Amino acid sequence: MDFSISKDTQTILDMIADFMEKEVYPLEPYLLREDFKELDVELEKKRRKVKEMGLWGPAQPKEYGGMGLGLVDFGLVSEAIGGSPLGHYIFGCQAPDAGNIEILHEHGTPEQKERYLRPLVEGKIRSCFSMTEVEMPGSNPTLMETSAVKEEGNYVINGQKWYTTSADGAEFAIVMAETNPNASRYKRASMIIVPTDTSGFDLVRNINIMGHQGAGFFSHAEILYHSCRVPQENLLGEEGAGFVIAQQRLGPGRIHHTMRWLGICSRSLKLMVERAAMRPIAEGKVLADKEIIQAWIAESAAEIAAARALTLQTAWKAENLGWKETRQEISMIKFVVANTMQRIIDRALQVHGGLGMTDDTILAYFHRHERAARIYDGADEVHKLSLARQILKPYRAEMQKVRESIHA
Ligand SMILES: Cc1cc2nc3c(=O)[nH]c(=O)nc-3n(C[C@H](O)[C@H](O)[C@H](O)COP(=O)(O)OP(=O)(O)OC[C@H]3O[C@@H](n4cnc5c(N)ncnc54)[C@H](O)[C@@H]3O)c2cc1C
Repeated sequence: MDFSISKDTQTILDMIADFMEKEVYPLEPYLLREDFKELDVELEKKRRKVKEMGLWGPAQPKEYGGMGLGLVDFGLVSEAIGGSPLGHYIFGCQAPDAGNIEILHEHGTPEQKERYLRPLVEGKIRSCFSMTEVEMPGSNPTLMETSAVKEEGNYVINGQKWYTTSADGAEFAIVMAETNPNASRYKRASMIIVPTDTSGFDLVRNINIMGHQGAGFFSHAEILYHSCRVPQENLLGEEGAGFVIAQQRLGPGRIHHTMRWLGICSRSLKLMVERAAMRPIAEGKVLADKEIIQAWIAESAAEIAAARALTLQTAWKAENLGWKETRQEISMIKFVVANTMQRIIDRALQVHGGLGMTDDTILAYFHRHERAARIYDGADEVHKLSLARQILKPYRAEMQKVRESIHA
């Protein structure tokens, strides 16, 4: 595996680092004050600048106007823009749109691509992904209550979803609903595109998360699908293929998250080091003179380096050997990097003392919002179980053979 950085990629990374310092970090106070109207206006200006610099949509398909970067290069770019919660949105590679772009590109009909995919890649519209239900376990979505029944050329959708991220202001949702209740468990559900102005698409509320409701792109909605009727042509991919497509969405989605989290780790460490180096703590002494703080800095730097290496290795393997061969690494990075990130945010916040608890730095925002990293796209426990199952599989098979030979 070769992770050397090409000259072109280094040029892109340098441009991004400069842009983040000068144009993106200064916008964060709007987000922290929840001044979303002003933020939207400013974000649009920055997005225009990114397009002019030729850096729009780093991971999006070239034929739709993206940069078409491979996974390893996107990993490096994603760390560079992930230092701010605004970065991925400004560069046009934000979740949940990025995942929806991938599945529309792979499974959309030509009409769906023109109507939904193209404007989504261009950043003219936003979308959301509506799978998790209030009453059913998101960790096992095959237990799904939302139904889509065929009636006179339409699907009629009924169900209650929540945590539909960025639904507020989105043009359409990709909804997971049971279309084939009598099929085997993994073939019961389908993905259906639902424009959000469809009658029966009711955005009940933006859910308050850790004391903040958010708005627009920065929100998570509860949605009631109440006899919500869309034409059958809005089916994405084949009927009953919902879980297969969801898996295709989740693999890249998980790696994209960990790449973004590396950016949060690096920014938090930088803030920790800057604060420790300048905060007086005794006569002639700063925080950085204390050994316990030095240990946190050293541990954080080493943990980030390990998380980055594992993430890039996973990206390389997915790119060169395919997603199926990379299942174990995807599970590993999901819980390893999420926990690394939380430890580093926590240390950085601690080093800032009372200041860390305020919204005068970005750390409290990271602390509030990134706790969820250990829950969404598969909780830690689910990934650990899945990884252990794969590791144990050949040993179990071997033990079974031994048992059979003893009893033969
Ligand atoms: C910030 C955020 C954004 C999200 N965005 C979206 C989105 O855009 N679209 C969407 O559809 N969903 C979204 N989700 C929902 C997310 O996918 C679910 O919360 C997640 O899948 C877990 O499902 P659940 O909340 O129903 O928890 P449950 O399934 O009820 O699980 C609860 C806990 O049980 C434990 N657990 C679960 N299974 C096992 C097991 N097999 N063994 C041992 N322990 C287990 C885990 O600790 C887990 O945290 C989002 C969630 C968050 C927090």
